[in-house]
Amino acid sequence: MSTNYGKLYSKKATPQSQPIPGSGQVPNSAGGFAWAVDDWMRLDRFLILGTEGGSYYASERALTRDNAEAVARCITTDGVRAVARIVEVSDAGRAAKNDPAVFALAMAAKLGDLATRRAALAALPRVCRTGTHVMHFADYLQAFGGWGRGTRTAVARWYNDKPADKLAYQLVKYQARDGWSNRDLLRLSHPKAKSSEHDLLYRWVVKGELAFESEGPVTGGLALVAAFEQAKKVTTAKEIVRLVTEFDLPREAIPTEWLTEPKVWEALLVKMPLTAMIRNLATMTRVGLVAPMSQATRTIIERLKDVRRLREARIHPIALLAALKTYAAGHGARGKHSWTPVTAITDALDAAFYTAFQNVEPSGARTLLALDVSGSMVGGEVAGVPGLTPRVASAAMALVTAATEKEHAFVAFSDSAGAGSGLLARLRGRPAPMKGISMLDISPKWRLDRVMQAVSSLPFAGTDCSLPMRWALNAGVEVDVFCVYTDSETWAGPVHPAQALREYREKTGIPAKLVVVGMVSNGFSIADPDDAGMLDVVGFDTGSPAVIADFARARPLERL
Ligand code: CA
Repeated sequence: MSTNYGKLYSKKATPQSQPIPGSGQVPNSAGGFAWAVDDWMRLDRFLILGTEGGSYYASERALTRDNAEAVARCITTDGVRAVARIVEVSDAGRAAKNDPAVFALAMAAKLGDLATRRAALAALPRVCRTGTHVMHFADYLQAFGGWGRGTRTAVARWYNDKPADKLAYQLVKYQARDGWSNRDLLRLSHPKAKSSEHDLLYRWVVKGELAFESEGPVTGGLALVAAFEQAKKVTTAKEIVRLVTEFDLPREAIPTEWLTEPKVWEALLVKMPLTAMIRNLATMTRVGLVAPMSQATRTIIERLKDVRRLREARIHPIALLAALKTYAAGHGARGKHSWTPVTAITDALDAAFYTAFQNVEPSGARTLLALDVSGSMVGGEVAGVPGLTPRVASAAMALVTAATEKEHAFVAFSDSAGAGSGLLARLRGRPAPMKGISMLDISPKWRLDRVMQAVSSLPFAGTDCSLPMRWALNAGVEVDVFCVYTDSETWAGPVHPAQALREYREKTGIPAKLVVVGMVSNGFSIADPDDAGMLDVVGFDTGSPAVIADFARARPLERL
């Protein structure tokens, strides 16, 4: 017998424990090889997924450091482009949390060249839209050398450029966050008040003076501040209700002892911003305002159905998913409070989850949704939502494509994922079983909490991201687009996913494509950057389902 050199050094079949010859692959964290994504993709992953809770392979600190280094390289390479990207993702509400954008903006404001620093500071009001954001910005600046003249001017403008009524609302609603207060920021930035109303507001914040009290009837922003001060002194719920109704006091301005009164919540609900409404559903249910068939329940459901309103308030699907998860559970994370969830509200949150993504036109492609449910996918939490592991989040993300594409089926990297009763199984008879992958019986018709429950109880298997392509080939399943939801920490397979895809194309004649939906902000991908039929997108980017459909629709390129 002679040695089969071709088998030992092949570009067509290489074990995942070795790099594909000549491909430029790098070791991933799991002992396998994958491609390194470029720094711009890392920037996107960081902005959209964040690093809270770290990952299975890296602590939060290490993952944040790696991401910060990638962001710093983007700032060095083309800082103006980096700032534009930060603004784009933040302003469109594509990320569940704005903090990574604020952090990256602070980096650009301190570490960039002159043009970059100017662009970053000019973008401050677009990225830091609330008092909390600007306090976080101030905090992050410390990590990159602290304040300077440019940052002082930009923060002063942040306050000064707001009309007095909008400014007063910010001052009342966001008084202090994470060790920073408006008082600190105004003292450091020292804006020269652009109007007498601004001047009075600044004096109130910095010195606690209500100088306008004796100067006749107060209006606009000053009236809000006066109402805020008065709310601290009132003795009946009725008076609080009057202040809320007359001056639009936000919840943050109401002393906590009044927040057990249904009447107070009823008054607050009238002008309550959508984000606050979604966060306070449990409380409003606990105090009895939200009840089956109550007027408040109807109001809330109407608002959750209002697509335009959801968009304008930048309500991210993850916020809805997190709210649904908590609300349907009927008790808080620490079990301190409990309530009886109103099913109509839970259902409305479920429906709103799908509408919060950008509009998706179905591509008509036969789509195999492959979930990596391996052990590493339970490390860390997506966008800092407790219990929302990449494993569970990827199922929710895949449901959006499933809800759009009629011809789809789910598989999971698990040995016994379900009965295999999905569409393809029914159409073609049950596919041949293959170790490490199973059909998964979930549906966008199920409520999200049920899907999350089903996925979190699946048994683990090793990570072999080539399985969906090999399984489809083996079972004779026709697939136009493979969507793999993964951290790309693949290691267990006899061939690389890109090779399995090319073999699938050759043997079936279908110019199949692969979309890698990155669920962890690490630096790897199983998508071959030199193959136009493979694409990286970021999980839980509100734009990703639309990008997947566009990519599926695009005509296959000649070289596939
Ligand atoms: Ca894994």
